[in-house]
Amino acid sequence: MTVYLKSEAEIERMRKADQLVAKVLHAVAEAVRPGVTTLELDRMAEEMTLQAGAKPAFKGYQGAGPYPFPGTLCTSLNAEVVHGIPSDERKLAEGDILSVDFGVLMDGFYGDSAVTIPVGTIDETAQHLIDVTRESLERAIRVVKPDNRLSDIGEAIQDYAEEQGFSVVRDFVGHGIGRSLHEEPQVPHYRTSGNNLRLRPGLVIAIEPMINEGTWKVESAEDGWTQVTQDGKLSAHFEHSVAVGKNGPIVLSRWAEGEA
Ligand code: MG
Ligand code: MG
Repeated sequence: MTVYLKSEAEIERMRKADQLVAKVLHAVAEAVRPGVTTLELDRMAEEMTLQAGAKPAFKGYQGAGPYPFPGTLCTSLNAEVVHGIPSDERKLAEGDILSVDFGVLMDGFYGDSAVTIPVGTIDETAQHLIDVTRESLERAIRVVKPDNRLSDIGEAIQDYAEEQGFSVVRDFVGHGIGRSLHEEPQVPHYRTSGNNLRLRPGLVIAIEPMINEGTWKVESAEDGWTQVTQDGKLSAHFEHSVAVGKNGPIVLSRWAEGEA
């Protein structure tokens, strides 16, 4: 396993990529309303990315998918967990929740972040799921400091999400990030007894809990990319790219307005 630690200068370059990601996600969230299609959001994100001199990170990505991913954004609605494909046939409706995952390649480094956005007025359960997922990520970020262990992250997320009555997706995990979109180590969002790396300054990881209303189990939709909950209940997703600083976490993808 090769874990690449980044210099302070490299982390600054990663911050620029992540700030573009944050700025685009902010613009997407502002544009979300009933009647908008996920393809319209995708077009907007792609235009902003290219204008900033960056490249969409997911478009053309093959990974384990059946064909290259066609979108700039992953747009996953309601029971869709991740890897939803933007489409002019997916029109947002009042009460939906939309998970948007987005990455760029800029100046040699990748940025990656995700957010779940309410469409108009949503019901109490959907709001609670969004709040718990966001808070589980914040709790995970707080344990990102030198000498803590990778497993502290999964433990923080799982303990909180399950205490709130929800479940943690197992099939998809966070990851190291840098000159590649997915680097070592894998970052599980649940308790594990496997690789238990000690966190070191210069490690940069994308932490991205996917939290489900019902079962944690997911399955592939017909398009081969989109992952949906097995029971058809809701799922939410938040992600930040986080560097281990000497004194604690540095959240690269938290938007400081005006930086990008
Ligand atoms: Mg992502
Ligand atoms: Mg990611």
